[in-house]
Amino acid sequence: MCALEAGKRGRKVLVLDHAKKPGSKILISGGGSCNFANYYVEPENFICSNPHFCKSAINRYTQWDIIEFINRHNISFHEREHGQLFCDGKASQIVDALMLDCKQVGVVFEFGSEIEEIIRFDSSFVVKSSNKKYESESLVVATGGLSIPNIGASPFGYKIAEQFNIPIISPKAGLVPLTLHNQDKERFSDLSGIAVDATVGLKDVSFRENVLFTHRGLSGPAILQLSSYWNPGETVEIDLLP
Ligand SMILES: Cc1cc2nc3c(=O)[nH]c(=O)nc-3n(C[C@H](O)[C@H](O)[C@H](O)COP(=O)(O)OP(=O)(O)OC[C@H]3O[C@@H](n4cnc5c(N)ncnc54)[C@H](O)[C@@H]3O)c2cc1C
Repeated sequence: MCALEAGKRGRKVLVLDHAKKPGSKILISGGGSCNFANYYVEPENFICSNPHFCKSAINRYTQWDIIEFINRHNISFHEREHGQLFCDGKASQIVDALMLDCKQVGVVFEFGSEIEEIIRFDSSFVVKSSNKKYESESLVVATGGLSIPNIGASPFGYKIAEQFNIPIISPKAGLVPLTLHNQDKERFSDLSGIAVDATVGLKDVSFRENVLFTHRGLSGPAILQLSSYWNPGETVEIDLLP
């Protein structure tokens, strides 16, 4: 998306990616249907130590911009609970649409490109890969988060931040199921596969949605939401009869 916007501004854009193909994480997103937007996006929906950043980021590219992009590419979609928007078909339609738009503004892609070093000069950056050296006026690092390393995720972005003395907030898992200790796992094992409407909460935050008992612990939308706020050692309160 960044390459596309830069290309639209007439910049000469080269995308280097060590993966063999584009958008692997988009392909698995939303269970393969990509939850590409939400009708009700507010800055408060995002966890960020600087809430003003969320306001400006959302104002500059809203859910209506992405819906316009989806409609322009004739990708059919539907709404699920809480205004979530999913493709009717496969998430690959979104990757194809992005690649098509990028091609139209002249963005060039180089896959299988392992980056070894980044050097900053006064008015340019030099990026060294295993077999090539590139020089550019601007450099965008968009190497993503740490989840699912077997489809290309790497800590490279964090390493570059360290190299340039950019402070890092320690990353932690979010939107994930919670695993139970062995004793609780055994206690709840008969409930595995059952989902109930429940309220789950920590000291300052709570969610009311389904909680799913699994063979490892707890999942379902309420738990996934809460996981982004939970820190190891904190007690999670669950009301199964809200
Ligand atoms: C299972 C799952 C489901 C999800 N579902 C949704 C959803 O439905 N809706 C939603 O909005 N979000 C969803 N997300 C989150 C979403 O996928 C990410 O927020 C999004 O992909 C982040 O985009 P990105 O461009 O920052 O990083 P990524 O999509 O991770 O892209 C980073 C790219 O950088 C490349 N790279 C990494 N390291 C290097 C390196 N050293 N050298 C060269 N290239 C490198 C990678 O190969 C990759 O192509 C989901 C995530 C997961 C894991």
